[in-house]
Amino acid sequence: MKIIDVDVAVVGAGPGGCMLSYLLARSGVRTALLERHNRLDREFRGYFFQPSVVKLFDQIGVLEDIFHIPHQHVPKFTFVDHGKTLFEVRFDELEPPYNYGLTIPQPPLLEFFIGQAARYSNFTYFGGTSVTDLIEEDGTVHGLIAQNHEGEELEMRCRLLAGADGRHSTIRKLAGLSQTMGEFELDFVWFDIPKVPGKDYPLQIQIEDEGMLIYIPKGEDQVQVGWVIPKKTYPELVKKGIEDFVRTLIAVEPDLQNVLPRHLRSFKQCSVLDIQVGMTDTWVKDGLLLLGDAAHIASPFSGQGNSLAIQDAVIAHDTVMKALESGGHGIVPAELLKGYELYRKPAVAEIQSMQAMQARLIAMKSPGLLRLRRMLAPVMRRTPLFHQMRNKIALGVQRVDVNTSYFTK
Ligand SMILES: Cc1cc2nc3c(=O)[nH]c(=O)nc-3n(C[C@H](O)[C@H](O)[C@H](O)COP(=O)(O)OP(=O)(O)OC[C@H]3O[C@@H](n4cnc5c(N)ncnc54)[C@H](O)[C@@H]3O)c2cc1C
Repeated sequence: MKIIDVDVAVVGAGPGGCMLSYLLARSGVRTALLERHNRLDREFRGYFFQPSVVKLFDQIGVLEDIFHIPHQHVPKFTFVDHGKTLFEVRFDELEPPYNYGLTIPQPPLLEFFIGQAARYSNFTYFGGTSVTDLIEEDGTVHGLIAQNHEGEELEMRCRLLAGADGRHSTIRKLAGLSQTMGEFELDFVWFDIPKVPGKDYPLQIQIEDEGMLIYIPKGEDQVQVGWVIPKKTYPELVKKGIEDFVRTLIAVEPDLQNVLPRHLRSFKQCSVLDIQVGMTDTWVKDGLLLLGDAAHIASPFSGQGNSLAIQDAVIAHDTVMKALESGGHGIVPAELLKGYELYRKPAVAEIQSMQAMQARLIAMKSPGLLRLRRMLAPVMRRTPLFHQMRNKIALGVQRVDVNTSYFTK
């Protein structure tokens, strides 16, 4: 078995893991990033990043480079209720320069960060390598066991293991860290369609009697479409057949007539997001830290998951650097990591409860409440409370800045 020794082993090359390993590599830390997939166009993922992330990309000096990846600036997020704008979350009313969100395909973005990290000789990327076990003694994590696609085993010893391996986190389970799950009554069905030339596709949630349709612009010529269904009813949808699904969507949005019958031919083109909301009860222990979806799962309302994972990485970077520099060469103890959890957990919980409120507002069914919603929306969007919510959605609920003083160059 191959044996490797690093300072920090980061597991999972999603937005959280890529950002943390890049920041650590750039700060001179011997860092390894392990990802079970060979290629990064892994499971279907959301492409929307909040203005808070635009700011972080700028702070580390990579924003202009990222603009070489096909992307779109998103000036606002619109809620349309039976053909009428209910309200808009206007990023373009925020203070410049961070007054827009971005849609960027995840695979080239993640590859970009791995490529940047690989410029530092203290960074190693292990693609196609799954972590299968922890090396743990008396509740302290000393490293991990992984296996690559050829079946070769790897033992990695580290001072800290960062679990950024997503909502079904193996690291969380192996470390015995429990998770509290919330209730969520909806699931999303996602698929891509080509843009109809000349038609505008703003970031939008469209509410109709039959359900909710979500558009997320994706690159130059594609749109990601989401359809909200009651929880666990996807098998019924599939049973009725793709033609029935296409008819339902066209009834909601007649413009789709031009594109759906030709481009949505099978449920194989769709993926279901089983919407879950959850919080891991403890994010750190001796030698271990969790971030991103491994630490918390946000609902997809207002597109927060990517941004939360990246914000975690930025705060974790600062905490880990302080811990590594505080002397000694041993395992990083939980007491030096706890500040990260204490800072991030309440912020994530606040975002999750804001999302739950949005979901309740959008999923209203009773005709009386719907009338009230339509009457109050124009008043609501002029209140300071609405602007505060907009700022929290776009910029996050707390200050998150990259500590660039650790960068070696
Ligand atoms: C369909 C869909 C649409 C979404 N839309 C949006 C959106 O528009 N905006 C938004 O902000 N969020 C969105 N989200 C949520 C967002 O994608 C996640 O919150 C975000 O990806 C979390 O990042 P992460 O780095 O924590 O984990 P992930 O992105 O889940 O990455 C985890 C990585 O760990 C790897 N891994 C897992 N186990 C192991 C192992 N044992 N060994 C090695 N590697 C392992 C996985 O292969 C994966 O690459 C969406 C999610 C889905 C599923």
